[in-house]
Amino acid sequence: MRLRNVPGSRDTIAESPFTIKDETEKKGNWKEVFGNDNPIHIEIGMGKGQFIMTLAEQNPDINYVGIEKYSSVLVRAIEKQEEKNLPNLFFIRMEAENIADVFAPDEVDRIYLNFSDPWPKDRHAKRRLTSVQFLGRYEHILKKEGHVIFKTDNKDLFDFSLEQAELAENWELLNHTFDLHNSEYVEGNIMTEYETRFVEKGNAICRMELKQK
Ligand code: SAH
Repeated sequence: MRLRNVPGSRDTIAESPFTIKDETEKKGNWKEVFGNDNPIHIEIGMGKGQFIMTLAEQNPDINYVGIEKYSSVLVRAIEKQEEKNLPNLFFIRMEAENIADVFAPDEVDRIYLNFSDPWPKDRHAKRRLTSVQFLGRYEHILKKEGHVIFKTDNKDLFDFSLEQAELAENWELLNHTFDLHNSEYVEGNIMTEYETRFVEKGNAICRMELKQK
């Protein structure tokens, strides 16, 4: 995505009560962070946070953690959360590669990936958030019955992700559609910032749901 430096965003993140700073120390202790043992759903690459914030508002009995590597977009989510003060939503600024350092086995109930970076060059394939390498990381944190739900308008990335689901020993495809907005899965669909933009342009949105075998 195109990034603009937002002056002061690092300070805003450091000072916000809604960002987790010592995230590796929370591993195995997320119940204490939220003060309850409700299920934990995470979004990796949440950008400005519209999707996860809407979910957190709609589902007070689910805890949400939004993960984003860039301060300049995360700061927008923090600004919204400072108005809303949702008790079931926290953010972490981190690189998702290290996700297994932040959540213990079985600590996460669902993983959302929305409009993840495509990394079009073959040599960067393992950086894609649906690569077998990332699926392996998700196995370390996700409950056995937990799902990964992925949306994108990028057909190449979606096809790659279908292949990876096939290749990954411990994963299987539960369902998928190449046109979410004209499918049964659109019911209850929460739009992300990117999704709004791509739907306006007339792009079809692909969606898949993966589960562990
Ligand atoms: N989910 C949002 C933003 C999509 S753009 C939406 O649908 O509107 C993808 C976002 O993922 C970017 O903000 C990017 O910085 C973040 N991202 C990509 N790879 C990441 C990684 N490895 N770790 C953390 N965040 C990542």
